[in-house]
Amino acid sequence: MHLIIYDSLPAWFVFTFQSDTRTFHFYVRKDVAEKQSQRLRNSPIVSHFRDTLRIDDLLSPFHSEFGEFFGFGEAIRKAGESLCFLHFEARVPDVITKTGLCTKCGGKGEMEDGMKCHYCSEGVAYTYNWHDAYALCASMNLLFMLMDEGFLATPGMSPGFDQLCGVTTCVVADRGGFDLGGQFGEKFVDWLCRVEAHPSVMSAIRESLSRLYISLMHLGTESYLSIDDHQTRVDIDDGYLTITVPGDAACIHADRGRSRTNEGYSFYSHNIDHPGQQITLLAGLGLLQGQYLKDLGIIHL
Ligand SMILES: [Zn+2]
Repeated sequence: MHLIIYDSLPAWFVFTFQSDTRTFHFYVRKDVAEKQSQRLRNSPIVSHFRDTLRIDDLLSPFHSEFGEFFGFGEAIRKAGESLCFLHFEARVPDVITKTGLCTKCGGKGEMEDGMKCHYCSEGVAYTYNWHDAYALCASMNLLFMLMDEGFLATPGMSPGFDQLCGVTTCVVADRGGFDLGGQFGEKFVDWLCRVEAHPSVMSAIRESLSRLYISLMHLGTESYLSIDDHQTRVDIDDGYLTITVPGDAACIHADRGRSRTNEGYSFYSHNIDHPGQQITLLAGLGLLQGQYLKDLGIIHL
């Protein structure tokens, strides 16, 4: 049994996030993709997700292998491949559909008494459409599950850097149903200790996450979320990472029980209630992994 926290293992899976196009990039080592490609065929978890999340069978057929698509519908699609990796990508879907002008306030955004209209956003009526976000979260859940082992590299398949992290997600349409956790490897934690000293990198990542959450959840700005704990934050303290998103103390946080400096640690989450929060936190992990690879001089995988 090989564990990311204690063992230096050549990377088999890494994901990054591209802010300008709101896109996740997943890189799966080819030998691992081949080994895991049959695992989800006829798996009961697929029908479980269909039933509990109401993921439409016709709109979103399930792809169990690492072919043109992976997961539900076209949530995760193949984008290319290199010597070591298959490259997949996933655009973050809109969860808000605008339905026209608000009929309650006539599109003014405020009621006759001058109070802000509570039925719309600045005069525009909208409705939530969680289907595509559920399909993406469920597809990522299954991808992370297939990648959640300590794989040894077959000869010729070592990408030149260690596995950075492992992630496990929860996808249940209920309060607290989108919690996540995982582990960071030793090299990644070493890097977190160093990047902590570069506030410009941290603030750029925070800005990207804030913009993502605002666009995803169709908020005007984050400014009205005046309570400190209700804003997006990225904090690193002695290598221990915390990413906070709007919500009720919604965050991922570190298990601070690291006994030696040359090991990684586990992380957990608190009060992650919906896909918007989970996707934003995963984007944060993606941005950090992308920055790590950039600092390592790895531009293309
Ligand atoms: Zn209105």
